[in-house]
Amino acid sequence: MQELIDWFQSLEPLPWQNDRDPYKVYILEIMSQQTTLSVMMKRYPSWISTFPSIDSIAAASEEDVLLAWEGLGYYQRARNIYTIAKFIKEHGFPEPNLSSWLQLPGVGRYTAAAILSRAYNKPYLAVDVNVKRIIMRIFGVSSYDQGLEEKFIALLGKNLFDKYSSDMNQGLIRLGQSLCKKKEIICKECPLMKICKSAGNISCLNVSTKKTIERRDKYLVIISFNEYIYIEKIESGVGKNMYRLPLVDYELWQTFLLEPGASLLSKRKHSYTKYCDYLYPLYIEIKEMELLQRFDNITKHLIACNKKKLHERPFLSSYRIIIDELLGGGGKDLFLEDQ
Ligand code: SF4
Repeated sequence: MQELIDWFQSLEPLPWQNDRDPYKVYILEIMSQQTTLSVMMKRYPSWISTFPSIDSIAAASEEDVLLAWEGLGYYQRARNIYTIAKFIKEHGFPEPNLSSWLQLPGVGRYTAAAILSRAYNKPYLAVDVNVKRIIMRIFGVSSYDQGLEEKFIALLGKNLFDKYSSDMNQGLIRLGQSLCKKKEIICKECPLMKICKSAGNISCLNVSTKKTIERRDKYLVIISFNEYIYIEKIESGVGKNMYRLPLVDYELWQTFLLEPGASLLSKRKHSYTKYCDYLYPLYIEIKEMELLQRFDNITKHLIACNKKKLHERPFLSSYRIIIDELLGGGGKDLFLEDQ
């Protein structure tokens, strides 16, 4: 399908499109799996200016890496980037084949194939959920099996794919973002139209399925004493090794409402995956040491952080927004993708 290559090459190129550096391609792949193109446009250059090479990540701390990833969500990916950087610094990049790249933490079949095709032009088909959808539509089937991939490569032209796998893989990704979307198809502009069994058939559009949303109420107590604010390090789970504003149970939070210097901040709503969190931040400004001692039971588990240094620590974005609002911080460009 020379048409797919021609179509891809006719598009406005993305700024990083022709970069073959395996480190940069790796970051691009990991970052693009969870963000939109407009987010990538801002965050990818900023990441590369903070960490221009794998060595610069290996020389940093995990906290620095989490801070640079802040707001992008899926923080395990940032932790994996850090682990992989340390590994590559010591052992070098893996051999350019699937089995070697699949040894790296967090690198699955899709990521490995995408990196190998873009950085080394190896003929692997990179199949994410969007490419899967295109392949199923091409064959007019409602369920996917891996056997379709070989047939699809044959349709694209095996020789052509061997030579231009990078352009073809990237072309398929752009196709899934623009013409062959989940809920919309623009077949008359599609370079694959002549081999597609679903061309012009809107019944292939996915019917939307309603997600069950789980509401969670979270009660925050922000204790401020002089130039310090008390924060909490997250020991496990989603934001492991990042920070948040302290959470307390509802009963305790209610008793704090009556404290002198307590003021209720605006309620915040934060949705991600199947969760909808409602955050109720209570700010307590304490001016005297004797009053601070009343909170010993809580503060003994917390970290007193200078307000001016809060931007140096990685926070889950819902908390960062509250901090920025409270302290009038410049605010990072956050995208509320925490997971
Ligand atoms: S012809 Fe239509 S349905 Fe088929 S791949 Fe192209 S946009 Fe998707």
